[in-house]
Amino acid sequence: MILRTPLFYPQFHCIADKCTDTCCVGWEIDIDEATLAKYRQYSKTGADQARKAFGKKLLENIEDGHFKLLPGDRCPFLKENGLCDMICHLGVNGTDLDESGESILSNICREHPRFVEVYGDIMEKGLGLCCEEAVRLLLTSPCHPRPDRGSSLLPLIESEIDEAPDEMPEGVEEARDAIFQERETIFGILNNKSIPLNQRLLEVLDFAVAVSDYEEPEEPSLSEQAIHQTWIEILGEGESFGPAWDAAYERMIRKGWPTTCHCEHSEAFAFSDDDGARIVAYLIFRYYAKSLFDGDGLTKVQFAIYFWIMLKQFGEELSADSPAGASDLTRKINAVKLLSKQTEYSEEIMEILADNFFQNEVFCPGQFRNIISRMSSST
Ligand code: SF4
Repeated sequence: MILRTPLFYPQFHCIADKCTDTCCVGWEIDIDEATLAKYRQYSKTGADQARKAFGKKLLENIEDGHFKLLPGDRCPFLKENGLCDMICHLGVNGTDLDESGESILSNICREHPRFVEVYGDIMEKGLGLCCEEAVRLLLTSPCHPRPDRGSSLLPLIESEIDEAPDEMPEGVEEARDAIFQERETIFGILNNKSIPLNQRLLEVLDFAVAVSDYEEPEEPSLSEQAIHQTWIEILGEGESFGPAWDAAYERMIRKGWPTTCHCEHSEAFAFSDDDGARIVAYLIFRYYAKSLFDGDGLTKVQFAIYFWIMLKQFGEELSADSPAGASDLTRKINAVKLLSKQTEYSEEIMEILADNFFQNEVFCPGQFRNIISRMSSST
């Protein structure tokens, strides 16, 4: 099997107590069956009484297949110092654990924020943009002049791994390779720094429309203001990620669609074209090939571009919780992270977005073109 990842993937390490965030608040933490069996075993055969007692504590804190969260949706094993009590408690000298203590962790705790997708004999892995360290790596990793795959802004690396491939029905491999080829074309367009990013996005959109069966509808007769309002309000249609999102969303609604470029406000930070190309390429990397399963590449492209447009238009509002004096990079990271949590990590919102991209004329490619054409680029 071939493993394909972004070039920066192997450098990733959770920065734990140095992280300004935590992955252990705000989500339901599922405990898979194998881990549950391990905890049951551990509570009976742990190396000493303390370990057995900890095993029992683990079991007592599980309900309906996930950890019972504390007020504020906190994992019961998250310590005040931001470290994980499971690793701290069982990781040192644990005879039945590996040195890092990670073997006690459930799949989700061990893998998060990584994502994985398998396409026959090709496995792709990456890091979710809900993680600040992942966003930092994405935005700051050096360009690679001639990558084998991907683009210089998002170079991808491949290696052989010892895992059995997923079976693919006959003919599907060809379709998969065609989709990967389309994705490479999109990477190539995004990589063309000789033209402004907005122009590249228009080309990407045209390409995605051309390779789909999509028939462009008549443009809606709604006012520009109503269209912009819908583009914002759709983010409030599903469940909220939490108070940080609620506050950001309220700021976005209050501000409304910006009529001038962010960079014209003296205090505002601005995402650059380079940031945008990396972010869009990364979301294309994560989602585009999934069109092998649902036949819908265009909405994946629309999502990547929509995500970027909302960041570009509302970066200030999305990053307003950053500490005073935070660097532009920190503010960019916080904006990406919050938007990712509210969209990519909610199945409900991803479905709402995909449905609207597919059938709501307010989100048709023509509207994307109108909005992109009116946005300014910045280098
Ligand atoms: S956001 Fe990333 S760096 Fe921070 S705790 Fe989660 S995985 Fe670790």
